Amino acid sequence: MPLSIDLKDSALRAELSAKAQSCVPDNKINLIGLDRDELKSVLIEAGIPEKQARMRASQLWQWIYWYGHQDFSAMSNIAKPLRGLLEEKFSLTRPELIEEQSSEDGTRKWLFRFPPRGAGKPVEVETVYIPESDRGTLCISSQVGCTLTCTFCHTGTQKLVRNLTAEEILMQLIVARDRLGDFPDKDVEGKGFVPEGDRKVTNIVMMGMGEPLYNFENVKKALLIASDNEGLSLSKRRITLSTSGVVPGIELTGSEIGCMLAISLHATNDELRDEIVPINKKYPIKTLLDACRNYPGVSNAKRITFEYVMLKGVNDSLHDAKQLVQLLKGIPAKINLIPFNPWPGSDYECSDWDQIEKFADFVNANGYASPIRKPRGRDILAACGQLKSESERLRKKERDALNAMHAMVSGHGAESDT
Ligand code: SF4
Repeated sequence: MPLSIDLKDSALRAELSAKAQSCVPDNKINLIGLDRDELKSVLIEAGIPEKQARMRASQLWQWIYWYGHQDFSAMSNIAKPLRGLLEEKFSLTRPELIEEQSSEDGTRKWLFRFPPRGAGKPVEVETVYIPESDRGTLCISSQVGCTLTCTFCHTGTQKLVRNLTAEEILMQLIVARDRLGDFPDKDVEGKGFVPEGDRKVTNIVMMGMGEPLYNFENVKKALLIASDNEGLSLSKRRITLSTSGVVPGIELTGSEIGCMLAISLHATNDELRDEIVPINKKYPIKTLLDACRNYPGVSNAKRITFEYVMLKGVNDSLHDAKQLVQLLKGIPAKINLIPFNPWPGSDYECSDWDQIEKFADFVNANGYASPIRKPRGRDILAACGQLKSESERLRKKERDALNAMHAMVSGHGAESDT
């Protein structure tokens, strides 16, 4: 996707017009999700002189992404008549938030409704915030449903409806910051940027619904906006893109986004991985790990995270741990061990806690950090691999079954590192 847009191009005009119609009822263009060049172009199109457009785009960028303003009239360094023009032509409208849930452990989950964008119905997407003592991580979705069918993952049972746009990916971060009070107070404007240590959302992970590398251009655009240091200002070291192993997208992620990489590995031989993460049939373990070895910028300071879900009697033996260590030799890596989060209809069980600890100890003793992730937000179905759209929500009977499963496995660590 080009970085700048040419508004003389009729296809792009149509796209922007569709965007306007789908975002807000009064056909205004929503400025959120436009990159700097696109923002400049729509300002020129609206009649702002070309000479001023870059400066105006810069001012707006800061109001939109640094301060989180939704109201043009409060943008004090923009002249009143211009504010009126912005109001008339553009919007900063947030998407419909149809549900907000808080877990007993502080995890928050939001259910958004986005327009259909083409045929079909509006779509619903979940986003999860996980607060910890030293950071706050937002888990963002990239697609509605998923084309892949990883057998341990509840989301994988929901068919792909569509890719999310860059605007919709970014909106998950912006609304989370709205809801958490994570934008600087409008009264303190002019006092400079909020120190990073005071932020609530310090990290983002593309680990929600969907395979982000099957929606690369939109994910890239949203992450580059999120990491722009005059806006949302998240360091690329605090942004992690997690893939099930779409090998051709791995190099592009490093060279064009430059964020941290996580791989959903979950098995140490092709036979088992073909079953658990079926994309392995297309990109087997060796091909995947070669791509990891060549990941642009990989080093001990920029290690790749390998996600490994602990499935009882399936992939949790000490033999598996040995294989894992051998496979990762030479790759600066960290291994996140994830106790399986059960869901109705799944045949897997979570490994016994003792076994998870033995596995972790072995991997640790062989030189790889292997934190056991603490299950977070299980009571609101926000845990890893549990996200689904409202339309695919559980019936009460299924929810009761799930709660019973959680009662059986409660006390087993997690999604935050222990
Ligand atoms: S783990 Fe990720 S890629 Fe696999 S089915 Fe679930 S959402 Fe899709």
